[in-house]
Amino acid sequence: MLSWGIHWFRRDLRITGNGALAWSWKKHQGRVLGVFCFDPAFLSRPDFSVDRFAFFLKSLEALREEMRAAGGDLLVLDHGPQAAFPALLEKIARYGQPKPGTISWNRDYEPFARARDSWAQEYFEQTAGLEVHTQRDHLLIEPAEVVNASGSRAYYSVYSPFARRWFEALHGPEVQSRILEQAVALKRRGGVEKQGSIFELRWEKRIGAHEDVLARYLETITAQARVPLPAAGHAAALAAVDAFAAKVSDYKEQRDFPDRSGTSRLSIYLKNGSITSAQVLARLRLEKTDFKAKGGAAQFVRELAWREFYYHILWHCPSVETLEFQSHFRGLAWENNPDYFEAWKTGRTGYPIVDAAMRELNQTGWMHNRARMIVASFLTKDLLIDWRWGERYFMERLLDGDLAPNNGGWQWAASTGCDAQPYFRIFNPELQSRKFDPEGAYIRSFVPELAQMTAKEIHAPALNRMIGTYYAPIVDHRERRDAALKLYKIALVIK
Ligand code: FAD
Repeated sequence: MLSWGIHWFRRDLRITGNGALAWSWKKHQGRVLGVFCFDPAFLSRPDFSVDRFAFFLKSLEALREEMRAAGGDLLVLDHGPQAAFPALLEKIARYGQPKPGTISWNRDYEPFARARDSWAQEYFEQTAGLEVHTQRDHLLIEPAEVVNASGSRAYYSVYSPFARRWFEALHGPEVQSRILEQAVALKRRGGVEKQGSIFELRWEKRIGAHEDVLARYLETITAQARVPLPAAGHAAALAAVDAFAAKVSDYKEQRDFPDRSGTSRLSIYLKNGSITSAQVLARLRLEKTDFKAKGGAAQFVRELAWREFYYHILWHCPSVETLEFQSHFRGLAWENNPDYFEAWKTGRTGYPIVDAAMRELNQTGWMHNRARMIVASFLTKDLLIDWRWGERYFMERLLDGDLAPNNGGWQWAASTGCDAQPYFRIFNPELQSRKFDPEGAYIRSFVPELAQMTAKEIHAPALNRMIGTYYAPIVDHRERRDAALKLYKIALVIK
């Protein structure tokens, strides 16, 4: 009997350059079948987002099409792995088919995923008797590979030394050869599609007729999405990289202006593994970039390193998921006024740049990085609302919502995180607005009430002339700034 393998897809929703899938494919000469499990624990998370789930379903659908076009298949199961895999193996046996010899997956770094994967490793090896193969995919350099040899901690809690080590690793022969492999895989991609079948199995052969769980979810969930969903899947991700290629040299000058499309928009694809940072670097030929280099390309690679930095922190210090990284800022006396929170969520704070950003989030499922920094600072330091409230709302709304960078971004803005901005650096929303949206174009596109205002007036309309249709500022920035400083100082005194 010919051997075969299962590849368990999680955050690696593509065929091209998928290391663990390729391992299984080689081992079983093309006889590998894909599985994805909808984990009820994930679906019932309090920060679950119907929009992000709908986009994820589209990404899965694109993956299934890719698999099928290449002669393979993807089975979507309606249970978490603990229930789904034993039932699947039993079903295969009942259908008179041989047990798979191996299961492969690419590694995941979130606390929830690590607990799940240690269960899976033990279950497949000890109980089910399958060979397990796992590999790196989601990150270019894994958390355990960047070690702080000299500091008091075994890991880096400051970005710059982390990034220096990360860039050193990037330039090492091992990472360079992996990026080169990805460049080759991306080039070959068109070739694979033309070749037709590269996989040799369909699920019908192993378990007979079965329900199309993905189609059921697509039908019910996609209709509930509150925002337009962008194109999904590896081909869409690659198209986004190619579109960004022409902009990367201007990235540094353009990236801070929310009305310009100066950034890559790759976060939604990186999150699901429709593309990886290794592939982005390979496609844009940025693998030799220096940490200290000037210009857009180097700035862009440094941002990819920020993403990996936040994964590094979450991996080494999983308590940041719920607690402040800086222990002396645990238990800050947040005011948590629900009316303020509601005004912030719905874009009715009377601060045009904040309202534009929140409306962008609600209408599109995305928000520009500069705007994320402004609204996060405003929520925590002007409204004195716990950063966790904002973090959760972002997760409910962002299509790219991702625990590590979201938590990192929020703790950075709230000054509670690793390498966060100091607590006494408080963004002035009006000044941020004048600097990063000088003509008011971003505000105008999301706050139509202010469309007629001049570029001078639009950043603080209430100060210039009251307008009936817009909101008066819910708080006075100067007063709230003082209140925020007091809040943090008290925590420092009683630490
Ligand atoms: P680009 O500017 O083109 O950057 C390229 C890639 O680098 C991004 O796709 C992303 O993977 C990474 N990156 C860029 N900036 C950062 C950053 N500041 N921190 C970490 N990685 C970065 N990013 C998410 O992917 N998911 C989130 O849930 C998320 N929540 C955030 C919350 C707050 C409060 C803040 C301040 C930032 C958050 N970010 C998050 C980081 C950043 O805002 C987004 O990654 C970026 O806006 C995505 O747009 P882009 O792909 O065009 O980015």
